[in-house]
Amino acid sequence: MENKRKSLSGPLIGLTTYGRNEENEFMMPAEYVDSVRRAGGVPLLIPPGQTDVAGILSILDGLLLAGGGDLDPALYGGEMHETIYMIDTERDLSELELAKAAIDRGFPTLAICRGLQIVNVALGGTLHEHLPDVVGEEVTHRLPPREPVEHHVKIDPQCRLAKLMGETEVLTASWHHQAIDKIAPALTMTAQAEDGTIEAVELADHPWLIAVQWHPELTSHRDAHQQQIFDGFVDWVCKQKK
Ligand code: MN
Repeated sequence: MENKRKSLSGPLIGLTTYGRNEENEFMMPAEYVDSVRRAGGVPLLIPPGQTDVAGILSILDGLLLAGGGDLDPALYGGEMHETIYMIDTERDLSELELAKAAIDRGFPTLAICRGLQIVNVALGGTLHEHLPDVVGEEVTHRLPPREPVEHHVKIDPQCRLAKLMGETEVLTASWHHQAIDKIAPALTMTAQAEDGTIEAVELADHPWLIAVQWHPELTSHRDAHQQQIFDGFVDWVCKQKK
């Protein structure tokens, strides 16, 4: 095993995929793979239902919890809402288990959109079932019916993410209708939209866990600051291997 892995060109980054769709396919938007590769990482797709979490983490160098549909609100004591879509129990349970294991082990983790929501729920936080019901329409976080849109985010200058990106105010590709309601006690809010929506969190007692509510993979091909999130993640993982 160890000999085989020496031939990899970079650190092995596990990416969680979407659940089974109606055509019985496991899907993964290619932008996640492209962004990890541009950073020098080797992507390994992990579809839901993988039960050997410890085994998977033992071969990986980093974990990326990707975006996707909504979590089942029952997982955080929430209510069903007419806008909630793509509930996938297999994916929810797989990713919660992966996230908890990554948190317990201090395993390097980048969480994006749904991934941020998974991390918050895994640590005991809750979500807004439908963000516009709470913050209104001052900032648009998703275009109807379900399309991405861009908005600005302010980042705490002291946090790891700001140092990584080299900016404290960035334009982000936003594609969500849910967000953190009660932040998990272990997490620190590190970025906000103008309407107060939590747009990024970090886990203080963890070597490298950054979670963003926006989609850096959608603009990383043309926005160096967004690509730096992936570059910084892969660089840090590389340093740990040496
Ligand atoms: Mn947003």
